[in-house]
Amino acid sequence: AYNRVLEIHKQNLSPVSAEYFQKPLLLHQGHMEWLFDAEGNRYLDFFSGIVTVSVGHCHPKVNAVAQKQLSRLWHTSSVFFHPPMHEYAEKLSAILPEPLKVIFLTNSGSEANDLAMLMARAHSNSTDIISFRGAYHGCSPYTLGLTNVGPFKTSIPSGMNCQATMCPDVFRGPWGGSHCRDSPVQTIRKCSCAADCCQAKDQYIEQFKETLNTTVAKSIAGFFAEPIQGVNGVVQYPKGFLKEAFQLVRERGGVCIADEVQTGFGRLGSHFWGFQTHDVLPDIVTMAKGIGNGFPMAAVVTTPEIAKSLAKHLFHFNTFGGNPMACAIGSAVLEVIKEDSLQENSQEVGTYMLLKFANLRDEFEIVGDVRGKGLMIGIEMVKDKVSRQPLPREEVNQIHENCKDMGLLIGRGGIFSQTFRIAPSLCITKPEVDFAVEVFRSALIEHME
Ligand code: PMP
Repeated sequence: AYNRVLEIHKQNLSPVSAEYFQKPLLLHQGHMEWLFDAEGNRYLDFFSGIVTVSVGHCHPKVNAVAQKQLSRLWHTSSVFFHPPMHEYAEKLSAILPEPLKVIFLTNSGSEANDLAMLMARAHSNSTDIISFRGAYHGCSPYTLGLTNVGPFKTSIPSGMNCQATMCPDVFRGPWGGSHCRDSPVQTIRKCSCAADCCQAKDQYIEQFKETLNTTVAKSIAGFFAEPIQGVNGVVQYPKGFLKEAFQLVRERGGVCIADEVQTGFGRLGSHFWGFQTHDVLPDIVTMAKGIGNGFPMAAVVTTPEIAKSLAKHLFHFNTFGGNPMACAIGSAVLEVIKEDSLQENSQEVGTYMLLKFANLRDEFEIVGDVRGKGLMIGIEMVKDKVSRQPLPREEVNQIHENCKDMGLLIGRGGIFSQTFRIAPSLCITKPEVDFAVEVFRSALIEHME
């Protein structure tokens, strides 16, 4: 049966997912932080369906709510009202600061960012948008103009005048290796301190200003930033950098957009939203992934003023956006995060996990940097700590495969795909972290032998 699946995949499905593992996994079942294959082998899911299954696979409460809604009403389209949508809107707006109160419901992060881009342009009456080198904001034609990381960089001409201006060299991050566009040689920067104590802020601000002054036309429509870059390999900004960048954008009439697709819903532990960790208030917040625990759902939240600017130019319509299933599930996810204290768990277990993985740096020459916040952690693999060259892709692939074969699923990121990404469901426990660290250590040892 497995070979038949591989055959069908090869012939009838997009090749992308077949490249993740040498021997792809065929999954049959999920329960909270565990996944099971056809033979009943279990895997600790430390990537949660790419940072998405926020409260656990098939969480009993979310399942019960979904089943109830399934037998009551699936779909109406967004031109009708239905209670799950209004209940959800009220709940979501209650956890966002004023004046972020107007909610647009969509189905994916790319769609949410597309809409945010339209809002920024409608509100500012300008076209230029800035995003960072290494950013990932989606895969739609609009958002591909903002995305600039690893395999997702595209040479397909992005039409509709949607090419965003990338800020040159912002942002290289603590180890630099993941963020240099062209040559790994350029990646060597002698600062290996954690982002918070990194002295790089002023340098990045200078580069940011230069981009604003030289590559952006007179006015700017908007600026997109992930509070921590996810796909780029968990890259953090120096303290205070985002706050100053927001100010510079606003001075030029631009709108600031926080892309919380990965960082929202308590993942970072100390705060519910990633932007709060930077002490900034965005004009638009986009969210997806963890919002629906795996059910397709996304949202854009903005101010009444920006919502009005959009309405002047566009009758926004989305057939599936805000459908009863998604909204009922979204409400259940918010309740579970609160009832099960998952944000607090993310903070406590995340801090524990960061320390545990960081210890591996002393043990293994190829573990270059371990960084992150809450349950969003990156382990950057290098040839050695002196050169800080990225570990060759085939070697990273092997370690990744070893982990999977030993029952641990983790993710990858960075321009050279050299950073392992760890982002489990927020319900994981310390013993599970111990298990994951031991498996990762064994996978490294097996690779060295
Ligand atoms: N923004 C960020 C920060 C993301 O990580 C992603 C997905 N990796 C997206 C947007 C796009 O979301 P989607 O795949 O749901 O379109």
